[in-house]
Amino acid sequence: MSAPEHVHEHVQEHVHEHVVKAMLREAGVPVPRGVVLPPDTRDFGAAGELAEPLVLKAFGPGLVHKSEAGAVTLGLRAAELPGAAARMRERVPGLAGFLVEEQAAAGVELIVGLVRDAAFGPVLLAGLGGVWTETLRDTALRLCPVSEPDARRMLASLRAAPLLAGSRGLPPVDLAALVKLLLAVGGPGGLWERLELGEFELNPVIATPDGVTAVDARHLPA
Ligand code: ADP
Ligand code: MG
Repeated sequence: MSAPEHVHEHVQEHVHEHVVKAMLREAGVPVPRGVVLPPDTRDFGAAGELAEPLVLKAFGPGLVHKSEAGAVTLGLRAAELPGAAARMRERVPGLAGFLVEEQAAAGVELIVGLVRDAAFGPVLLAGLGGVWTETLRDTALRLCPVSEPDARRMLASLRAAPLLAGSRGLPPVDLAALVKLLLAVGGPGGLWERLELGEFELNPVIATPDGVTAVDARHLPA
């Protein structure tokens, strides 16, 4: 599969989240349904087709760590979008537009990434994500392409594996969907084959008993 034109267009700078997500969707990675709106919009009608609760995110040059910049608001109803956007416009310099998307149900937050090792080439990374990424550094690495057994072994090797398998009354996550996501990224024919475009970080991928969703996607240009 060849890369869409718009990816090349943005490759020299920071690629906006919605552009990366469009590419992920195309590659079979589940991402939230969302709409993109201009920075000065007063009309959020396009978000009406999305299921609440909604998430409002800003994008723009230099907006890489969005939460820290105040560029993510969770748990909104559609009617709350104009007010939330007005506040975000005031606190986020260089806001180039908004992404409004459906909020995925809470689950286990994972990180899935593609990194390029100078000696070995493309490597798939999977581990515990979200706020625990830096603190616990619980990750597994495999050279691409990874096979399905490889992907399962990566997940099983995590210290967080019991969270995925279900423990202490928590239900197991949809492991088949998670393995499928890992293969879409790092398996045969996966996104890793397009690593000339740079590296990827999906953090978090939210895993629940009903499936997986990549709710944040970052592209790190080569
Ligand atoms: P950043 O990593 O740039 O600060 P994220 O897009 O990862 O911004 O959003 C911050 C946090 O908000 C995520 O780690 C996740 O917990 C939550 N989040 C973001 N988007 C969604 C979504 N669509 N559904 C559910 N939770 C989300
Ligand atoms: Mg994130």
